[in-house]
Amino acid sequence: MNSRRDFLQKIAASAITLPFMPLSGWAQAPAPYDGPVLRVAIMGLGSYANRVANAMQSCTKAKLVGVISGTPSKVQDWQGRFGIPAKNCYNYDNFDRIKENQDIDVVYVTTPNALHRDQVIRVAAAGKHVICEKPMALNAKEGEEMIAACKKAKVQLLVGYRMHFEPKTLEVIRMRQNGDFGKVLFFQGQCGFKIGDPTQWRLNKQLAGGGAMMDIGIYAINGSRYMIGEDPIWVTAQETKTDPVKFKEGVDETIQFQLGFPGGAVASCLSTYNMNNLDRFFLNGEKGFAELQPSTGYGPIKGRTHQGELTQPHTTHQTVQMDEMAGILLEGKRPVVAVDGEEALKDLKIIDAIYQAVKTGKKVALTV
Ligand code: NAD
Repeated sequence: MNSRRDFLQKIAASAITLPFMPLSGWAQAPAPYDGPVLRVAIMGLGSYANRVANAMQSCTKAKLVGVISGTPSKVQDWQGRFGIPAKNCYNYDNFDRIKENQDIDVVYVTTPNALHRDQVIRVAAAGKHVICEKPMALNAKEGEEMIAACKKAKVQLLVGYRMHFEPKTLEVIRMRQNGDFGKVLFFQGQCGFKIGDPTQWRLNKQLAGGGAMMDIGIYAINGSRYMIGEDPIWVTAQETKTDPVKFKEGVDETIQFQLGFPGGAVASCLSTYNMNNLDRFFLNGEKGFAELQPSTGYGPIKGRTHQGELTQPHTTHQTVQMDEMAGILLEGKRPVVAVDGEEALKDLKIIDAIYQAVKTGKKVALTV
């Protein structure tokens, strides 16, 4: 039984040990952050915008301060939920006026893929930095135009590659850079889910620019590059379509593709809108392996290597992403894996080549 005396004795005993405890043993409240804060406006108040906005509530360095939407009722709802002042609310007709708004640093574009190009170019012309969701554009040509527009306007263009800040992913990258896997020989990226509603924009070529490849296959493309640490030099690809009514001309249902890397590694990847439980990366080298499953979902990401389980803690991806992007945009920080327009352009060039390989049935050489 715990008596008051026991309690006092315990206190006394611990007091004796106090001077010898290392300082790091104390639970210290982190010093309040008093650095610069990135003031963000979100464009396109759909499902992902909501996820980003909610995650940003836990950010230290980024704050949601504005919205751009074509739906007044959504704007009103967001104003109430996130305390956004009326002067920071815009629609698609008048958002060029954001140029005059000194309280917004960056616009985060979370609209359907086909709108990214023009919207990013308009935001850049308004003199604001841009974060654009993936895929950055429908093809490499559009991506190049966006990069050029941002350069001309002297604003930065970042892309929402949230996995580039994910701790288990970064640990695998660190191990690879450290030589723990030896020479990397093989990567497998399996990315897909069974898509529902056939009327959604993701299945509309005009708005999506393609099918599963633009949406989920891009994770395998991007993942192959950050896991292997090189950019591919060739691609081959094969398409399978089981439902040509749901997946119309130009909307890919399932594509298998292979990538060759300059160091000799090959990647074998699957992109699909017709299978669930596909979210797995596997990296193999001469001395070891890494496996992430799930590998790119919202998490927690799980994984192991030949050295054992990966135990890095999970934090909401979009919270970490926005804090890190604040560091990039406001303090010139450099991420371990780039998240800029040039990085996204590489993925677009690979997507172009994959579609070309599907069409021609030939191996396509690549320079990204
Ligand atoms: P969504 O359909 O839920 O939202 C899209 C928003 O854009 C809606 O609010 C819609 O009203 C608006 N919109 C503006 N103009 C439109 C038009 N002409 N047609 C249709 N909608 C229009 O889609 P989402 O899932 O939020 O995806 C948006 C973007 O975010 C896509 O590029 C997608 O690839 C990307 N995304 C990224 C992640 C990630 O993990 N990084 C996850 C989901 C989506």
